[in-house]
Parts: sequence; C-alpha cells; structure tokens
Amino acid sequence: MSVLEIRDLHVTVETDAGTTPILNGLSLTIRTGETHAIMGPNGSGKSTLAYTIAGHPKYTVTGGSITLDGDDVLAMTVDERARAGLFLAMQYPVEIPGVTVTNFLRTAKTAVSGEAPSIRTWTKDVKQSMKNLRMDPKFAQRNVNEGFSGGEKKRHEILQLELLKPQIAVLDETDSGLDVDALKIVSEGVNRAKAETGLGVLLITHYTRILRYIHPDFVHVMVAGRVVEEGGPELAERLEDEGYDRFLTPAAESA
Ligand code: ADP
Ligand code: MG
Ligand code: MG
Repeated sequence: MSVLEIRDLHVTVETDAGTTPILNGLSLTIRTGETHAIMGPNGSGKSTLAYTIAGHPKYTVTGGSITLDGDDVLAMTVDERARAGLFLAMQYPVEIPGVTVTNFLRTAKTAVSGEAPSIRTWTKDVKQSMKNLRMDPKFAQRNVNEGFSGGEKKRHEILQLELLKPQIAVLDETDSGLDVDALKIVSEGVNRAKAETGLGVLLITHYTRILRYIHPDFVHVMVAGRVVEEGGPELAERLEDEGYDRFLTPAAESA
C-alpha cells in the first residue's frame, strides 16, 4: 500500500516573458488501488503536474510538497522516483538510437528493481505482455521510439507499465491519437495492472472517452493550476454533457 500526496503545490516555468506560475496550490492524494482522473481544459496545467511529478528540470516547485509514503519525492532524482514505485511515462526519452525495445526494457527493469531479472522468466514475461497488448514480436527488436506511430508509443508505454510493476502510475493523455481498438487494448493493459498489482492510477485527460474503459474512482477538475471541483465518476459524465464552461467564466474574471 502506497500513498502519493501532493500538498498545496506551486510550480513555475521560465518563458520568454519571465517566470510564469502554472500550478497555484494543487492538492491531491492517490493511494494504490485507486484510479483518479484529472480533467481540465487545455492549458490548465495538467501536463505540468505530470512533468513535475516526473522531475522534469524545466519546472520549478516554488511551494508545497509531493511525498510518497512520507518520503520527499521532490528531493529524489528521476531514477530514485522510479525505484520508489512511481511510473512516469514522460521520464523515458523520446528516441534512443541503437537501443532496442527489449534491451531498454531489461535495463529499465534492472534499474527499478535493483537486480537484473533472470533471462528465462524475463523473456517469457516480455513475450506474454507483448501478446497481451497485441504487439508484433518483431517490435522488440526495434529501436526505442524510432519511427514509432502514436499508437505504438502508447503501447510501448503500457508495456513498460506491465513489466515494471510500479505502485502508482501517472498517465498523461494516454488516449490521445488512439483509434478505438488501440484505446481498448491500452485500457485493458492498465486494467490488468490494476487487477494484478493494485496499481494506483493518475489518469490525465481532456476527454471522457478513455473513462469508458478505465473507470475512475475519483474525478478532479483542474482549471488555472488548481483543483476546482472533485467528485466520483458522475462528474465525468456531467463534464461530457456540459464541457468546462461553467468553470472557465470565474477563472477568466479573476485572471
Ligand atoms: P495542459 O496539459 O492542461 O494542457 P500544460 O501543463 O501543458 O496544460 O500548460 C499549462 C500552461 O503552462 C500553458 O499556458 C502552457 O503554455 C504553459 N507551459 C507549460 N509548460 C511550459 C514550458 N515548458 N514552457 C513554457 N510554457 C509552458
Ligand atoms: Mg495541452
Ligand atoms: Mg497536457
């Protein structure tokens, strides 16, 4: 059982215009076994939250805290975050020329668990996970992210999730660019990880479509860098009908 606690988080980013505040007092608690959806209009800071949890150097935390089981996540290196049980898709480089998927996964697994997995079980596990995600076995010999289609990138992300077995995963717009079949396969992968390992999920999305396949226990609406409303799955349905308009007017006025 793990708890990721985000308390009153303030984050800025450096732009040409100077230092811009993006997250303005965001609080959120995610436990293993729970699925939280963060929804919000474009530019509300959803990806900034994901990058900040991942430890991306572009984002500066100016206030608040992120802890995992009481340990200071913000003091951890990116590697330490992964070893602590956080899965952050963004931490993995865009393209790694000369590194095959199979070697990359084994290196990542070794880094996360602190020891190399036995070749025999590992090969079996990779094969099984790729089969689960309906991936061509040839995919394992391709270079990481080189020429991957949008759908292949997402599947590769979920393949990592299945094999690395983290405590808590942050998935940012995992639904973007997927057709319905790929969305179902990717969602099944997340649901398998939830069922098998009790994974906690922070699912960041602009659209409700993926929530038909990955059911959230909690829905948080994020506007202008903070959570403005929270509820259960019914909140997502309401957003599907009404959009974000009723949140945007007061935010625009106060800006
Ligand atoms: P969302 O994911 O909800 O669409 P983002 O976190 O991507 O929102 O962006 C929130 C705001 O922060 C936007 O106005 C965006 O332009 C700005 N922003 C985010 N990251 C950067 C960055 N690296 N450089 C400059 N501006 C950024
Ligand atoms: Mg965006
Ligand atoms: Mg985003």
